[in-house]
Amino acid sequence: MSAPHLDHRFADAFPELVHAARGEEQPDPHLVVLNESLARELDLDPDWLRSPEGVNFLLGRNEGRTVAMGYAGHQFGQLSPRLGDGRALLLGELTDAEGRVRDLHTKGTGPTVFSRGGDGRGALGPMLREYLISEAMHALGVPTTRALAVLSTGRKIQRAGVVPGAALVRTAASHLRIGTVQYARLIGSPDLVERLSTYARERHHPSLRTHEEFFRAVMHAQAETIAKWMRLGFVHGVMNTDNTTLSGETIDYGPCAFLDRFDPATFFSSIDAHGRYAFRNQPPILGWNLARLAEAMLPLFDADENAAVDKAQAAMDDFPDVWEKAQQRELTRALGTSDAGIAERWLKLLEERAPDLTTTNRLLVDSPTALADIVGREWVEDWQALSPDTAALDRLHPRHIPRNHLLQAALTEAESGNLEPYLALLSVVTDPYSDHGQEFREPAPEGFDETFRTFCGT
Ligand code: AMP
Ligand code: MG
Repeated sequence: MSAPHLDHRFADAFPELVHAARGEEQPDPHLVVLNESLARELDLDPDWLRSPEGVNFLLGRNEGRTVAMGYAGHQFGQLSPRLGDGRALLLGELTDAEGRVRDLHTKGTGPTVFSRGGDGRGALGPMLREYLISEAMHALGVPTTRALAVLSTGRKIQRAGVVPGAALVRTAASHLRIGTVQYARLIGSPDLVERLSTYARERHHPSLRTHEEFFRAVMHAQAETIAKWMRLGFVHGVMNTDNTTLSGETIDYGPCAFLDRFDPATFFSSIDAHGRYAFRNQPPILGWNLARLAEAMLPLFDADENAAVDKAQAAMDDFPDVWEKAQQRELTRALGTSDAGIAERWLKLLEERAPDLTTTNRLLVDSPTALADIVGREWVEDWQALSPDTAALDRLHPRHIPRNHLLQAALTEAESGNLEPYLALLSVVTDPYSDHGQEFREPAPEGFDETFRTFCGT
């Protein structure tokens, strides 16, 4: 048993973009949940991670070269030129069992130079929430950061009330965001943006050769991910450019939640007063965020300024089509047929009748008869006449998502020391296609979603 070997390629290559930082000393640190299967995938020894040295390592208190990463970001449309890891550290990179480079990152470990008046800490409820939702997303086949562990720190921290402090350790294909490129553009010469874009391209798309190709690859990866969100009813809630990755992985599960009733105008975040990040706005917001990336990368598209603008514009002009195709692919998969008309009618019926999305999707596999009660016999008959491939649908329509009311109740219990409901829910949502019973399938009681609010940065 010994400390794992971490690389520090990003920190070494981009001293301009990082600040050395360590986790603060914790009064009484303990592991609360450890993702043993992910640990093994990463060649980390679960027993060592449970040891005092392992806990120290996960909280960024080892002797390693831990750093806070800088990034900017458009938050709700406004540029914040200097955000950065205000409560997180990049521990380093490791290479997983399949040879992929992955960031190891810890969040909630104390202030950094980027904290801007925040305490740099995490609260147990939100850290457990991110752990569970990101692992559910992974089980649902959505590209996402993964959760390795939640640790309680033994601190009492101040939020709406006094709550237990905690940290979350996660992995990612990288923590590079659109906001990282914006930051590089704001603080450095075009050379810095160029080096960053090259680094990101070599890490995520080693077969590509140009910055323009890389930009388009980010567009495709993000469109694929968001098409999956839309199929599953996932509302991210805070699609700021600092929360939009270059890898295409979903990141930062703050105010996110899943829809019950299919109402495309749904948003849950307490700070999203105008519903900017409502369910139906997610694709156009992706387009908006990509335009900010194109602006930040502009000098890389061509040495001539006018030609660079033309190339950026041409790439952005492709976005509606890239999105359409990604959405079409997901719909085709979801319905087991490529008939565009039936898919269009399906979406319209969902909107009109606003049924529970997860239940309704699952009936495509389990019971066309029961489905007819929701969307009508006519649609079901027309759909069946197309001989949809329902066998292929089984691993596409989960029986279980993290239901808002169940997760909320489980987190409240966990905060007062009883982890049982949380662990039960975690095992359900990480095995979402099996049937774990009615209690876990049911949508929230009538009226719950209307008042349910989520919080970010908490
Ligand atoms: P988020 O909403 O988690 O994506 O965070 C947005 C920005 O706020 C990032 O720069 C975070 O590092 C920072 N931030 C969020 N919570 C805290 C906190 N408790 N202390 C310091 N910075 C924070
Ligand atoms: Mg963030």
